[in-house]
Amino acid sequence: MNVTLRHQQLSWGAVPVPYAALWSGEAAQMFIATCPHAKVPAICDHEARGTGKPIFGKPHMTRQRELIICERCDLCARPLAGRTKISLSHASFRVSGAQGGCIMQVEPLVHKDCALECVRHCPSLKRDIDAGTLFVRHVLKHRTQLALLTEAAVEEFCGVRRKGIVGHAKVELQRWRDRDLHWLVNSGNNGDK
Ligand SMILES: [Zn+2]
Repeated sequence: MNVTLRHQQLSWGAVPVPYAALWSGEAAQMFIATCPHAKVPAICDHEARGTGKPIFGKPHMTRQRELIICERCDLCARPLAGRTKISLSHASFRVSGAQGGCIMQVEPLVHKDCALECVRHCPSLKRDIDAGTLFVRHVLKHRTQLALLTEAAVEEFCGVRRKGIVGHAKVELQRWRDRDLHWLVNSGNNGDK
């Protein structure tokens, strides 16, 4: 078993809580510290996962970076390596110079079965399904980027002006296939590489 106690799946009622979701017990002033995952000065949240209520849709800064840098699933926090990787992000394709273009997203990738679980429980994804705006991308190649914050953003988060501070980690999608809900539901688990 490769899930440590730290990565244990927590639930709120019948709903699985994504590993990176912020809990109300953690929602205090953020601070600057060396991120244990990015190894650079970064905006950090207090660590008290499971305390209070989960704030769905609001990621804990340090756990968000952990998932992306360590390549773990947004929902279950287990490693993504060797499994089908899914993006459910709304981030759009942007053209960038000689390399053509990419998609940059702050949402960590998920396993295929976990993507299905997210679609079942997440209100905003359910709204997407009703509106026909759900994005399902089967990710074939990606890499990690760290986003540097502006001084103004650092001040807003932590109350001090500092340069060179990292905020979220981002997933840069380099190669993917556009899929849909039907594919997610019907094509079997992890069979499609
Ligand atoms: Zn997962």
